[in-house]
Parts: sequence; C-alpha cells; structure tokens
Amino acid sequence: MALRSTGLSHDEIFSALHALKANDVRWREGRAFTLTYSAGPDVLAVAEEAYRTFSTENALNTDAFPSLRTIQADVVTIVTDWLQGGTDAAGFMTTGGTESILLAVKGSRERGRRERGISAPNVVLPTSAHAAFEKACYYFGLESRRIAVNDDWRANPHAMADAVDDNTVLIVGSAPQYPQGVIDPIPVIAAMAAERGINCHVDGCMGGVTLTYLARLGHHIPPWNFTVDGVTSISVDLHKYGYTSKGASVIAYRNKQLRSYQTYLTDNWLGGMYGSSGIMGTKGGGSMAAAWAVMNFLGDEGYMRVTAAARHAAEELVAGITARPTLRLRAEPDSTLVSFGAGEPESLDIFAVADALWKRGWYLDRQGPPPSLHCTVNAVHEGKIPAFLADLDAAIDDVVNASASGVQGAYGTIE
Ligand SMILES: *Cc1c(COP(=O)(O)O)cnc(C)c1O
Repeated sequence: MALRSTGLSHDEIFSALHALKANDVRWREGRAFTLTYSAGPDVLAVAEEAYRTFSTENALNTDAFPSLRTIQADVVTIVTDWLQGGTDAAGFMTTGGTESILLAVKGSRERGRRERGISAPNVVLPTSAHAAFEKACYYFGLESRRIAVNDDWRANPHAMADAVDDNTVLIVGSAPQYPQGVIDPIPVIAAMAAERGINCHVDGCMGGVTLTYLARLGHHIPPWNFTVDGVTSISVDLHKYGYTSKGASVIAYRNKQLRSYQTYLTDNWLGGMYGSSGIMGTKGGGSMAAAWAVMNFLGDEGYMRVTAAARHAAEELVAGITARPTLRLRAEPDSTLVSFGAGEPESLDIFAVADALWKRGWYLDRQGPPPSLHCTVNAVHEGKIPAFLADLDAAIDDVVNASASGVQGAYGTIE
C-alpha cells in the first residue's frame, strides 16, 4: 500500500490494526504452541505499560538515560543470580536469543584471534543447536562443524572432541536444545573447552528461567549453568519463559574479561567515539523496561508458580501423546518442550495433522528430520491440554480419513 496523503484518526488506526489480527493465532487462549508466551492478562498489562513508558528512550547511550543503565544492571543481576554466576558474572541485555548467540560467537572469534592468533576459526556444535549459531557463523566468517547427536538426541561429546582442533574457538551445548527439548551433557562439553582454554557457550534461551525454577521445585536437573567449570557464557531469553515483551534476552559471561570480547568501539568516522555493547545501535528502552517490570511483578514466587503451571501442562501433554499409539514422543522433556511424530502406522502424515489442527485454530511448529511437531508448552497452556488432545484426535481422524498430505512448513519465514 502507498502512504495516504492525509492521515487516519487514532480510532481508525486502532480499528484497522485490530482488524488485521483477525486471522492470527489466538495465543491468549493458549492455541499457539510456539512464538508466544503468556502468563496471563495481569502480567501482559504490566509489560505493555512498561513498554509504553520507555518506548522512545534509547539505550545506545545510557549517559543520557541512566534509567536504562539501572534497568539493564538490575535485569542482568537477576539473570546471573539465576545462573549461579557469583559476583564476577557480567552480561548485557540484547534484543533476543539470536542477538545473544551472535554475540557469543563473535566474542569467541575475537578471543581466539587476540589470544591465539586464529584466523580461520571454527565452532564445534551438535546438530541440535539452534539455527542462530549457523547464522552467526555465516555472518562472522566461522566454520560450523555440526556433529550428529546420540539416539537420545543429546550431544555426543566424544564425537565432538574428535572435531575440535587448534582453530576451534567455541564449543556449544544447549539446556535444553530446541528440537527435542533435552539437555546436553554440559559438564563433559565444558570440560573439553576448559582443557583447551576456549569458550563454551550454553544455549539457555529456552531453559534459562525454566530449569532454574524446575530445580527449585524439586525436579532433577542435570548441571548446566555457571556451577559447571568451563562454561564461559549462557544466553537466556526473557521474551520466552521470562514472560516479558518481545525484544529481551540476556547474554551472560562468567566474568568481565570474557564479556570484553563482545563489545565494539570505533572512532574511524567523522562522528567521534562510538561504542556499543551488542549488534544494535539505537536500542529501544521499551523491551528493557518491560523485562524489568515483569520480573519485579512476578518475583521469585511468581516464577515458581508459572514454571509449575507450564511443567504441569507439559507433563499432561506428554501423557496424552504416550497414551496414543498413533503418535510417538521424541523424548521425555527435561524442561517444557515436547516433540512428537507418527507412531503406528508410521505412514500417518504428521504435517497433515498440523494442517488439520490449524484448521481447528491450534498452531504448532513443524520440524525435521525426522518429521515432527513441536510444542513450546508454557503457563498459558494450563488447563488447555484436554481440549487440545480432543482436537488432536479429531485432526488425526481427518488425516486418516482423507489421507491428506501436508507440507513441512518452517520455523521462520523470510517475508
Ligand atoms: C528461541 C531460541 C533461540 C533464538 O532466539 P530468538 O529470540 O528467536 O532470536 C536460540 N536458541 C534456542 C534454544 C531457542 O529456543
């Protein structure tokens, strides 16, 4: 559409914007098992008001906005406490998991270059590690060495060790990995990195908040955070299980020395000294303030409650899937991510099931190999699983009856 010559009124604008949402997935009702997270209307209201309060403020230069310096420091401290990072831990807020991972990779490349003169760096990571690592290697000129996972979908540290050489600057593990929701053997991976004096990043984008509180709730969680020797950085997305507005993640480092490799400074232009902590120049204050607000609104007790709700819903979903021979659970989830494919008969087209579910208003991620559906179960799904399972049965019936054929679909899109 071309820009109109005279503007619309405030009311016209908002009725048009709300009309645009007509065909969007109804995430407030728990019908999205991906892309959105909700801890309820009261949390959302706090996030949105905080966002509005800081939508014009700019964290590019916090000399002008000491408010945002404080907000960032508070948020990073809460997250490094969750990660048991101690007093040396340091970090920055970023705009999301991808930016946190880009920075971890860039910092590893920089450390390898400065400390060991590496000019052709590589990263050793399991096939399950998030696509953002691939993007980072591509953007910053590192070789990605993907190593097949074990039968239980966890990283295979022995095979990873074989791929490490003198040019390796980073070894990666996830807690949990996105596709099947299991935690990699972080202590073994981190020890491999420590032995060589190189970085080990733990991708806690999904698990950073949830695993912290699941452990507090008494679940057995294998070691994955800064208590593990050799872990140099961890990413934690607040706009996922922190239940805040989009555009908020933290990249945390074991100490300031490790963090120093991610920042950028230049005076090679006519605008004077320019420094930035991350990828962004101008950095919106809205998502930072929303994160601060939601964390302080929920508090420790609130996170215990929403984590328990999400885990309960995930366990209910797992029980529903394992009770259905037409489906096969990919792995018992270590956190709240649930992935499943076709059981018996294996000819059931699981992507056609996703199509049939979407016709009924449920949106799931499709992934592979192997062809699977993926559910990011969160607090919004509490009480919604029985209705979902009923529609899942109806969707499977539709597919079996019509022998319809679905398409794989994608986690992200380029338009
Ligand atoms: C979501 C996610 C990312 C990427 O984060 P974005 O916020 O989508 O940029 C990275 N790793 C894992 C495990 C994730 O779940």
